[in-house]
Amino acid sequence: SVPLSFFGGIGGASRIGILVKGSNYLEALAHAETVVFDKTGTLTNGTFTVTAIHAEGDTTEDELLALAAHAESLSNHPIAASVRQAYAGPLDPARIQQAEEVSGQGIRAVVDEREVLVGNGRLMDAAGAAWHDYELVGTILHVAVDGVYAGHIVIADQVKDDAAAAIAALRKAGARKTVMLTGDRADVAEAVAASLGIDEVRAELLPQDKVAQVEALLEAQAQANPKGRLAFVGDGINDAPVLTRADIGIAMGAMGSDAAIEAADVVLMDDRPSQIARAISVARKTMAIVW
Ligand code: ADP
Ligand code: MG
Repeated sequence: SVPLSFFGGIGGASRIGILVKGSNYLEALAHAETVVFDKTGTLTNGTFTVTAIHAEGDTTEDELLALAAHAESLSNHPIAASVRQAYAGPLDPARIQQAEEVSGQGIRAVVDEREVLVGNGRLMDAAGAAWHDYELVGTILHVAVDGVYAGHIVIADQVKDDAAAAIAALRKAGARKTVMLTGDRADVAEAVAASLGIDEVRAELLPQDKVAQVEALLEAQAQANPKGRLAFVGDGINDAPVLTRADIGIAMGAMGSDAAIEAADVVLMDDRPSQIARAISVARKTMAIVW
């Protein structure tokens, strides 16, 4: 049977906005040593603003933004919301013949009977659209129309207020290793990780690459200390498989997707990464009572 103090621990956590789905996760949290973060929406606000638009060839900047906004009209990715907001105009459903999300890469759509791709370099490569790279300015959305490069949109996100404090608190709580996984560009990812004091970064990952990275980190954790546990923290856009694979899957509850909240073992009600160290602390106190 489950000792009563476990319920005390779960109750104590819920009073500070941390939902723990079972006493086994409380026990795992008490032994968390590797903490792996998704970047967008987890360590950053996940609300992007468009900071620059650059059109090439026959396409004007207004057209580029209109095409991108229509292509992104059905996506619930935070990047899509920023493009629609920058466009500001009404979206005409009649202009959109088709739209599909390419997980971790962008959008493939048919707008005004033309194939429109909006996303990263990998998506452009798959279509054979020649794109150029740029100095670090933010996350870059490349746009191709009928296989021809048409320009790019620069978007910027900001790290959460408490993200640096959250990493420092985890280190104090005994986390051996902090890691950030992201589908974003390496230069953007490294700048964010350096500003937060995160130990390791793996960038330009596809959703399935994130699962492979977590598996490798689980292996490394087992080698370093088989009793230590690995937590993955994500906002859930494409994160459900990784949340499931980690010893402890932690989801952001306010902005996170339903799929993530479902897949997670622990849900942070207010999306603040600093809650993770608090969850570990509640778990440790609970364990001390049990032992
Ligand atoms: P993260 O790992 O940071 O949470 P994702 O895996 O969701 O990011 O996406 C990785 C990259 O794929 C983004 O940085 C972006 O370049 C591209 N991308 C993903 N979704 C979209 C979209 N809806 N529109 C344009 N680009 C996208
Ligand atoms: Mg994400």
